[in-house]
Amino acid sequence: MLANLVFLNHVGLILCADKVKELISKCLQARDMAYCPYSRFPVAAAILTADGAIITGCNVENASYGLTVCAERTAIQRAVVEGYRQFTAIAVTCDIKDRFVGPCGACRQVLMEVRHTYLL
Ligand SMILES: [Zn+2]
Repeated sequence: MLANLVFLNHVGLILCADKVKELISKCLQARDMAYCPYSRFPVAAAILTADGAIITGCNVENASYGLTVCAERTAIQRAVVEGYRQFTAIAVTCDIKDRFVGPCGACRQVLMEVRHTYLL
């Protein structure tokens, strides 16, 4: 189910359909790995690097809610640790089927931090 999939891409960048399908597939797979015992709201993200690698993330909750890390930030942080600095797109999904849910403010801020690394 592709419900509520958010696909963010730099304006003007064209991605091949196969890469988009792969990005979405890995995003959906990562959602199954979410650690969300408190909210029971699994979220996943998959970020596409400039050289075609896909790094995934999922939400990782904590009993101290402020320590919870969203899927988008998990994916970006994993990518940075693995040496990636340039990104072309990110897909985000959760399990809400009939409504759009966008990234939170913290994730939007982190996405803004790496926006200059999107390829044109
Ligand atoms: Zn977030």
